[in-house]
Amino acid sequence: MRRRVVWALACLVAAFAVVGALKPAYAAAGCRVDYTVPSSWPGGFQGSVTVTNLGDPVSSWTLGFTFPTATQKVTQGWNATWTQSGSAVTATNAGWNGSVATGGSVNVGFTGTFTGTNPAPTVFTLNGVACTGSVPTTTPTTTTPTTTPATTAPTTAPTGDPWTPPSSLVQPLAAVWSHEESTYSNLYGFKNYGWDQLFAGGGAINYCVRWDSTAHVTAAQRDAVAAALQRQYQKWMDQMLDNGSGWNNWPYKQVPVKVVGWAVRDRAQLEWTDTSVDIYVNDINENAPQCGTPCGRFFHQDGNYSGCPGGASHHYDHSLWLTAGFSGGAGGDWGQRIGSEYYMSNLSTDNIHILLHEMGHTYGLDDFYDWDPTPGQGFIMKAGSATSITEFDKWMLRDWWRHLKSRYGR
Ligand SMILES: [Zn+2]
Repeated sequence: MRRRVVWALACLVAAFAVVGALKPAYAAAGCRVDYTVPSSWPGGFQGSVTVTNLGDPVSSWTLGFTFPTATQKVTQGWNATWTQSGSAVTATNAGWNGSVATGGSVNVGFTGTFTGTNPAPTVFTLNGVACTGSVPTTTPTTTTPTTTPATTAPTTAPTGDPWTPPSSLVQPLAAVWSHEESTYSNLYGFKNYGWDQLFAGGGAINYCVRWDSTAHVTAAQRDAVAAALQRQYQKWMDQMLDNGSGWNNWPYKQVPVKVVGWAVRDRAQLEWTDTSVDIYVNDINENAPQCGTPCGRFFHQDGNYSGCPGGASHHYDHSLWLTAGFSGGAGGDWGQRIGSEYYMSNLSTDNIHILLHEMGHTYGLDDFYDWDPTPGQGFIMKAGSATSITEFDKWMLRDWWRHLKSRYGR
């Protein structure tokens, strides 16, 4: 289910710095890291990582970090067991250095290879908690009287970015974001992600159905197509909510999804006569029917739908492109493409998982054909490994939001 690369206008290359400190709110954990390259030679280098435990004493530890480039590889290491998956490196303690007291340090090292540049990793984790040089403050939930008064008063919640995924996901998520930064051509400059479309529409999304099939469609099927689309869409939108409230200033609880148009080759295929949706006949592009380009967001990213016969309210943001005999999927800012037989036979399925995967692409999420940030754990964006949106998918989606939300004044 390839991300069809029509991230249009994606030719500008911009340099960006990642801002936003990682501040997971876990009790009494914290660390500081000193990463150095004591020596290097053409194509190779020695890396040294000194980790200082700023939190409670630990009896075992896992150090994680992500190389900024895809060519940097650990070839062998010492003082720990080293593994690497994609750009994500993990070092677990040796039998004799698992215990690290508060304030204590441990040093590990490795030799590695690289091509081109050899930038230092910037995000490190110790037992899943980002090493920010301080201990995140936490708020006790239930307390029993203690004999030792707290030496410092509890502080209020930290300001800034509330990045609080489960600790086991911090490192994989950082690896995913780093990978996207290094592989997307215009990650921060692109302005037509699903996010952009949703905010342009004030929290609602319009669809065009591209009926790329010779089958007929009844009014009941038409309505079921729209209802299933709404249900699947909301499954992603629900990932932005915690107990019904928007996470990290997310504003939309329910996102109305409206099918405003159907595109067909032959009007007679559509067995209804009412005018509840716009009908586009035999406007062929990419060898498939499409709704009129004057009404399409993909063609009018400035939001000017003045050429759309029904006006802006008849515009469509995404296309749901249903192709007969198509067994895979594709997704992007233009919408999603899946098989028509697959979709029509799954209209009442709880999770239409190929569609969910492709919707993820519309919101910027990547594929994972060539590397795996969470070995052994399936998730919807790793095609074929899960049939519903997982916790990891949820936090990947949220990672996009926290990086883009300033665009929308949030
Ligand atoms: Zn895909």
